[in-house]
Amino acid sequence: MVDIQVMRNGTRVVRSFKPDFVLVRQHVRDASEDWRNLIMGFHYGGIPSINSFHSIYNFQDKPWVMSQLIQLQKKLGPENFPLIEQAYYPNHKEMLVTPKFPVVVKIGHAHSGMGKVKVDNHHAFQDIASVVAVTKSYATTEPYIDCKYDLHVQKIGNNYKAFIRKSISGNWKANTGSAMLEQVQMNERYKMWVDECSQLFGGLDIVAVEALQGKDGREYIIEVNDSSMALLGETQEEDRRLISEMVLQKMQVLCKANTMSQAVSSGTIQSAADSTPPPPPPRPASSRPPPQPESGGPPSQPPPPVPGRQMPPGQGPPPGHPSQQGAPGQAPVAQMGQSQDEDTMQNLRKTFAGIFGDM
Ligand code: ATP
Repeated sequence: MVDIQVMRNGTRVVRSFKPDFVLVRQHVRDASEDWRNLIMGFHYGGIPSINSFHSIYNFQDKPWVMSQLIQLQKKLGPENFPLIEQAYYPNHKEMLVTPKFPVVVKIGHAHSGMGKVKVDNHHAFQDIASVVAVTKSYATTEPYIDCKYDLHVQKIGNNYKAFIRKSISGNWKANTGSAMLEQVQMNERYKMWVDECSQLFGGLDIVAVEALQGKDGREYIIEVNDSSMALLGETQEEDRRLISEMVLQKMQVLCKANTMSQAVSSGTIQSAADSTPPPPPPRPASSRPPPQPESGGPPSQPPPPVPGRQMPPGQGPPPGHPSQQGAPGQAPVAQMGQSQDEDTMQNLRKTFAGIFGDM
């Protein structure tokens, strides 16, 4: 159950509801934020989501995601997947070996350029190591790349877009201060990067690859973002529409199945199914779908807390899902569920129009 506080005629009231689906568009962790408790609660309740809670949980530490990208590079080769060379320090005490300067030190897990420092010499590196000490966090270092521009390749469902971003305020971080943004043509190489990354952690419905285009003519992939990625440029409205359509599409599959299994278990439609074989046993609310292999994940990947439930758009629900258990004789059940679902979907469309219109 979710409790939210809303204002009604100037009075704050609490509303409680059971969510059918969750779209996560904000960072679960940032410099001063941590919503892990909510993510775990939704996952505990088995609520389907975009991206899957399993993958969102795995995106909480950038070095954890980077470790997956290192495996991807091993699989594809450095020419096809040009990942930046990065070093990981579990704490400040390990920051003794000085890297080649200039270097970028990235401290802990934070977004929007926060916790990232360009360091030019070993004195400054020692200073930064002393700052890492008080953060009680890990840090990474990577060579500072003198760049022409940042490259952002995104995939929303089956829609691909690429953008370049150039700093015009002089900040070495193109996502800090003013920048110029331009949409560029997608190509097979970018598509391969983002397609490969969309297989991480059991599959990502929304994913973006960030890379740098160096003045040396080389590309450097620096990170991957998930459904919390920022939408860019003039195509933001279209992207929001794509996201809302994907949510509705998933709800039509996943939430309809839940409605049907609840209806069957409550016995309200038993008479309609009298002449049919008995319905499958209802799934208890706390049960989980059977573990699924994680496509594309390296063998060394640690086991997820709970297996992911999500699937690529356009595909059916996972094996064992109630919607796959129905026999042909259960058509009346499906029809009944469907008309209710159509109403629900209409209401949802209105709600989404409201939400996305306001953004
Ligand atoms: P998020 O995308 O999650 O908000 P972030 O913006 O905090 O992450 P990065 O994307 O790693 O972190 O870095 C921010 C910006 O700094 C990049 O967009 C890029 O312009 C610049 N940058 C990052 N790493 C390097 C590097 N190794 N060399 C040169 N510039 C870099």
